[in-house]
Amino acid sequence: MQSQTTPLGEFDLIQRFFKTQSELMLANNPGAVNLGIGDDCALLESGRTEEIAVTSDMLVCGRHFFADANPEWLGWKALAVNLSDLAAMGAKPIGFTLALALPESNPQWLAAFSKGLFAIAHEYGCPLIGGDTTAGPLNICITALGDIPKEKAIRRSGALAGDDIWVSGTVGDARLTLAALRHEITLSNDELEHIQVRMHQPTPRVNLGIALRGVANSALDISDGLLGDLRHILKQSGKDAEIFLDRIPKSATLAKQSQAIQSQYAASGGDDYELCFTASTSKRDVIAKISASLNLPLTKIGSIKPMQYLAPEILIINSAGKTLNTDEAHQLLKSFDHFA
Ligand code: ADP
Ligand code: MG
Repeated sequence: MQSQTTPLGEFDLIQRFFKTQSELMLANNPGAVNLGIGDDCALLESGRTEEIAVTSDMLVCGRHFFADANPEWLGWKALAVNLSDLAAMGAKPIGFTLALALPESNPQWLAAFSKGLFAIAHEYGCPLIGGDTTAGPLNICITALGDIPKEKAIRRSGALAGDDIWVSGTVGDARLTLAALRHEITLSNDELEHIQVRMHQPTPRVNLGIALRGVANSALDISDGLLGDLRHILKQSGKDAEIFLDRIPKSATLAKQSQAIQSQYAASGGDDYELCFTASTSKRDVIAKISASLNLPLTKIGSIKPMQYLAPEILIINSAGKTLNTDEAHQLLKSFDHFA
């Protein structure tokens, strides 16, 4: 039995101290809440033909970024990671609030932060509508709201056996950038210049999310690592998955690294903010058209299977067609947990 003082993982602690009580309250009186904790966004009745999607994400100094991080990039990224959660449900941004703790009121820092923040706010038509400001260790928390026609939100729970599993763009570059900044691997200046934008200024796939309404059966954004995040879809849909490791899309820069680094970073690197979604095989042509119209690669990396045992499993198949054993798979499946 777990002792009272044993530290819990991120998802266990949410479940134990927040989700269970939240679900009890909502079961007794859902009010305007159509979907609570557990997906990329909560969904609320709006009294209109759209539901409102709500999501919060926080960037903490020393955890998500270095203290001397470029403030313009920080402003961009703080909103980008929230818009990515709206995209994962297929929601269109409405606006956002900004809760900010600042160690000092430095006008130069704030001008650059605000520039990055409003650059992305303009790009996605998502105005700032409120917030809170206090002195304290640097911490940036944004809550974003989006609109989604009723019944069209793409939930994590909708994957069906036989669905293709898709990933947008390429994955693993944010992890590659981090490794280069930590001097764990060496990249040329040109290579670093080219890929670091993936870590500092990720592109939320808002238009893809909207285009996938009525096409994808399930979706989420990849914030903690592709295969670990895919597990959330499997868990909530009660399914297994089969993934072909060498089909996971990688940038040319990542493809130059050793096979082990390529697989590790692409499969579980995190901070990618691409979408992983599942869709019926009958949607392949529609998805090819969406890919062409958005000029965004969409890659089929595997398929959804009926669940065999009590917990969802991911069968990972390597380039030689061999299924990875439990230890090999475990290494690749380790996604990011703030308390692990
Ligand atoms: P995401 O990576 O999509 O932002 P997370 O993995 O951070 O999602 O969180 C998983 C789910 O748990 C989400 O539905 C999120 O809203 C919820 N959640 C996370 N932290 C808390 C908390 N402190 N209280 C209530 N819900 C939380
Ligand atoms: Mg998410």
